[in-house]
Amino acid sequence: MEYNHILVRYGELALKGKNRNLFEKQLQQNIRYALKSFEEIKVRRTFGRIIVELNGEKYQDVVEALQFVFGIHSLSLAIKVNNDLEQMKKAALQLLKENEEPVQTFKISARRAYKPFPIDSQSLNHHIGGFVLANTEDVTVDVHNPGLNISVEVRETATYITSGVYSGAGGLPVGTSGKVLLMLSGGIDSPVAGYQILKRGAKLEAIHFHSPPYTNERAKQKVIDLAKSLTKFGASIKLHLVPFTDIQTYLNKEAPSNFQMTLMRRMMLRISERIANQNGILALATGESLGQVASQTLHSMNTINEVTNLPIIRPLVTMDKLEVIALAKKINTYETSILPFEDCCTIFLPADSKTRPRRDQAQKFESFLEIEPYLQRAVENTETLFISAKSNQIESEELF
Ligand code: ATP
Ligand code: MG
Repeated sequence: MEYNHILVRYGELALKGKNRNLFEKQLQQNIRYALKSFEEIKVRRTFGRIIVELNGEKYQDVVEALQFVFGIHSLSLAIKVNNDLEQMKKAALQLLKENEEPVQTFKISARRAYKPFPIDSQSLNHHIGGFVLANTEDVTVDVHNPGLNISVEVRETATYITSGVYSGAGGLPVGTSGKVLLMLSGGIDSPVAGYQILKRGAKLEAIHFHSPPYTNERAKQKVIDLAKSLTKFGASIKLHLVPFTDIQTYLNKEAPSNFQMTLMRRMMLRISERIANQNGILALATGESLGQVASQTLHSMNTINEVTNLPIIRPLVTMDKLEVIALAKKINTYETSILPFEDCCTIFLPADSKTRPRRDQAQKFESFLEIEPYLQRAVENTETLFISAKSNQIESEELF
């Protein structure tokens, strides 16, 4: 007898009725997606759980893949047996003997969810516990603080015996909260912000501003790679690459140097808003963190934010840089982010950016400019790539 199933538990129990059903369906679909490479596996929904049938696949690899899937609260390896006391006893004993660490104390927690089963939970605890004690040495029962808790769940069609719990990624299944347009630079912060958004169940599209020939192909590839890393957490990502050279050159020539950063950000937001509107996206997201740099003071955010009515989600706003770095390492984007390619912002920006730009000043400087044709051209010439979670390859729209 060996582990033949994984029980998947999901949190957020406040979800009720229709939402709950959608949530469960999406989670089941995302799990199937994440486990695509395991051909024998079946993923079923039953009694408020999702059950992964291993059919001979190695559980270690499957658990690892499941730990990236948002919406999963916890996982347990399980042995599925018939509703038969002898089989339950053997499975419980097996779990105890095969536990990774030696077990000194244990407890049986039986639950008779299927009431017509003739033995009640108390008696089940008693019978199964007794059998384990009789077949082991130096092991005792401790109901308050057991070294190993073996749960026995009797359902109508089968009994699941589990021990130990792996934590899941938490959050909500990607695809249950709409779509967000992530402003993705090549830096450390924005991919982490993308991860946080995915965690709350939104799908991502990403937008990146680049300035060829000042930024090169490798800088572009870096952003593609970052978007690819994010597909691991849920779904394919549409990446919009916006040519930004003309706008930057124009601002560089026509705007006062200490206001260029502010005006450039306002342009980025205006373009992002248009791309969001074209794609049915209701919110933007950035990797900004309060006070981190000149463009991220409240004065700056206030003046930059003025140009759009879309909500801007800033998942990192209260985080310290070190916390962000730790998370970037955990999600494996850090190594890519620190590759030293030039970013469009760093190339043109003068060192004397204002930390307290005011809205009226920004409006005044923009009144001397003719920005609309620049905005239109940037949007028109935006290149869109489709980055698929399935193959982790860039595919054309038709295949997507
Ligand atoms: P990051 O580490 O994400 O690059 P940062 O600390 O370098 O952030 P800024 O350069 O001030 O901060 O950028 C703030 C946010 O603006 C970024 O997190 C990102 O969301 C967005 N952003 C900056 N540059 C670009 C770009 N070239 N394309 C798209 N979005 C950008
Ligand atoms: Mg940056």
